[in-house]
Amino acid sequence: MSRQNTEDGVLLFAFTCGHITLPMGFFLAGEPGKVKVPACCYLIDHPKGLAIFDTGFSPRFTGMTEGLGKIVDMPDGHNIADRLRELGVDPERIEWVINSHLHLDHAGGNALLPNATILVQQGEYEFGMGGEDGAYHTVDFDTGQPFRQVSGEHDLFGDGTVVLFPTAGHTPGHQSVRVTTSDGQAVLAGDCCNMRRSLDDMHLPDHAWSLDACRGSLETLAVLRQKGARIFYGHDPEFWAGIPQSKSLKIYMVAD
Ligand SMILES: [Zn+2]
Repeated sequence: MSRQNTEDGVLLFAFTCGHITLPMGFFLAGEPGKVKVPACCYLIDHPKGLAIFDTGFSPRFTGMTEGLGKIVDMPDGHNIADRLRELGVDPERIEWVINSHLHLDHAGGNALLPNATILVQQGEYEFGMGGEDGAYHTVDFDTGQPFRQVSGEHDLFGDGTVVLFPTAGHTPGHQSVRVTTSDGQAVLAGDCCNMRRSLDDMHLPDHAWSLDACRGSLETLAVLRQKGARIFYGHDPEFWAGIPQSKSLKIYMVAD
């Protein structure tokens, strides 16, 4: 990126890095059918450095037609490194990767950001490394970069603009991020809030590590939305159809 972000405060950009087709009930319990949902990633451009929130699917899924390849759609050029290059950002410049959690659709591109430190909640790291859950693929996230394990809220740049906060439920150490820009506050929800309707109707998924914790995390997000934050829902195809890829989200910061 030729632009050096020294004047505009924090800028936010969004990308989808692959899609997956899953039963609708995974996102909204009791709803029939299947749904193709995006894996959503963000570039947070702070004057002190570049951070990514979630890295989508690994390019190892590109062209795969068997196994997970039947449900994962990962076209050429949609991986996090190519998305960044499209924006003029060298992936080697990314200093921080914030993983909401370590599932394969959220940490699959970590290896493509070789100079980053990976920020996860301690409980997520321990659970993901434990190998009990098939949605964790260590080949995606145990890729040699240093991990910084945090517990609870973490103010990444020390100025309150990029704050990680725990939103457990989907997994034991799930976290979300509040990003404060000159245009308002965005909440990058990840999988604690799959769809807009998850929050509008307090509609839980049909399974999770803890549905009680899911409810608590949705209540946290409801308070933030009520105060004016813009929630970026984790896997909502209708919501994401209205979000421009690789453009500053300045005008999308008004709460809905
Ligand atoms: Zn997940």
